[in-house]
Amino acid sequence: MTGAPPKIVVVGHPVLAARAEPVSEFDDALGRLVDDMFESMAVANGVGLAAPQVGRSLAVFVYDCPDETGARHRGHVVNPTIETFGEPEAADEGCLSVPGPYRELERPSGATVRGVDRTGKPIEVTGTGFFARCLQHETDHLAGMLFIDRLPRNIRRRVLREMEPYEWNVVPG
Ligand code: ZN
Repeated sequence: MTGAPPKIVVVGHPVLAARAEPVSEFDDALGRLVDDMFESMAVANGVGLAAPQVGRSLAVFVYDCPDETGARHRGHVVNPTIETFGEPEAADEGCLSVPGPYRELERPSGATVRGVDRTGKPIEVTGTGFFARCLQHETDHLAGMLFIDRLPRNIRRRVLREMEPYEWNVVPG
């Protein structure tokens, strides 16, 4: 253990806008990255965190997220692909890399993510409600997309003005 978990980068950092590299080495370094990401997510009280958010352009995300029944889902996915299903649902959404503001955003009500775990073993995760939103949000990060990129431009501008970084963020500049 090296002490403090990695800080979370905020919008404006180029790593957040880049497509994440697929993971090809399932080694100790990948395991450490996943552990570190769980820690950073916990410190920031997040429900999900993608590797680019800790400055690493790799296709990995972690989650610790309730669904619409209150059931808690906790895990990680490496090299995910996503399929959505169900009716569009509007709900408030936020992001640790856009610290502060939340905005209503419509997304499909269900999602299935397929990928592998930290050892390379195939996994599949299906979520509904808030958990489905989380899976879509984190998969978006790995494509270089933030939730604000799905909002109309005028709303996006307002959100950016409302940002308020916390001590677990690292602000570019
Ligand atoms: Zn996010």
